[in-house]
Amino acid sequence: TSSTGLTTFNPRWIRVNTLKTRLSDVLDSSHTFDSFKEVSGMSDMFFSPTVQKHYYRKPELLPEIFSIHPSHDVTSSEQYKSGKIILQSAASCLPAIMLNPPKGSVVVDGCAAPGNKTTHLAAIVGSKGKVFGVERDKYRAEVLEKMVKKAGADNIIKTVKATDFTTITEGHEAWEASYLLLDPSCSGSGILERIDWDISKLNLPSAGKSSTQALKPQRKRKREDAGYASADNAAQPGEQMEESIEQDTTRDRLLSLADFQLAIVLHAFTFPNAKRMTYSTCSIHAEENERVVLRALQSNVAKARGWRVQSRKDNPLSTWHRRGLVNEFADLDAHEEERKRTAEGCIRVNRTDGLGGGFFVVCFVRDTGDAGQLD
Ligand code: SAM
Repeated sequence: TSSTGLTTFNPRWIRVNTLKTRLSDVLDSSHTFDSFKEVSGMSDMFFSPTVQKHYYRKPELLPEIFSIHPSHDVTSSEQYKSGKIILQSAASCLPAIMLNPPKGSVVVDGCAAPGNKTTHLAAIVGSKGKVFGVERDKYRAEVLEKMVKKAGADNIIKTVKATDFTTITEGHEAWEASYLLLDPSCSGSGILERIDWDISKLNLPSAGKSSTQALKPQRKRKREDAGYASADNAAQPGEQMEESIEQDTTRDRLLSLADFQLAIVLHAFTFPNAKRMTYSTCSIHAEENERVVLRALQSNVAKARGWRVQSRKDNPLSTWHRRGLVNEFADLDAHEEERKRTAEGCIRVNRTDGLGGGFFVVCFVRDTGDAGQLD
């Protein structure tokens, strides 16, 4: 159940940290998951009469990510404690997959804490690559540093602490980056209300009982920990990230957030070697999503530097079914075909998709010859 009253199935998502292990090792040779069986559909996981038998599900298109029933708490497992697995929603894994920086490349994560996407990027670029994790807030930068260490990524990620991304200019080592991931603060309107599943209190199905009835979660907390990190399942004790807690979606608030988000994107457009960047939010509001993309495309800097939305066909997530809202590009000074192409380049996740909440991501590329191509 979400704060809008929608009933949804929200599994627990796990990203395998490939800097430390592999998906097959986590599933086959670990004490935590070795008795789990693979299912292909989410309903199998939620409505099976034998939830206690443990199921996992691997989504198409998202490598090294799997989901389990939310009643399973894996935080006491060796894999979690040692940073081999990271509790990160599927939706939150989309930006790094969409950005797809080549191995060994230099990437900037402009709004990095608590570091789910920064560490994901590190796993993608590998030990020959470099990721600058820029974070404005001093406290959140400390959480980021902890996460980087736990993920075993300290040789790849350089934390740029207490620094506003928009102040990074010529002379800063991050200025030379070719790839950027931008995941700025947002209204958090896609975040699902947190539900605590306590397996010991679940009335597990037995013959003659409806499994829907049996799987009623224990709702302990409401929104006090609905920060971004808990949307990503990333918060650990003492590390609650309350960045998006207000979920204030009044129009004025959305417009002021949109101005801030646009400023982040426009600054990223000025990086001299940048060829590809993603912009993402955990908001479902077009004001913070397609409308920011539209305004960014209409900016002088985008035109001067040749930034555009990457064509759907060039992206690793080209077969993702839910795309941007085309009507939001109606005031783009372009033919209908181009507006459609622009919307097609965006990806949306709905709150009810079971991927960890509502989400938006787009990839911008620059026409420098190789920018739109997969490496
Ligand atoms: N990408 C992160 C993850 O997946 O773990 C979550 C990022 S959260 C939505 C946005 C972060 O951007 C917050 O930690 C916030 O403090 C930081 N931030 C906001 N404005 C910033 C700026 N101008 N420069 C750098 N960081 C900023």
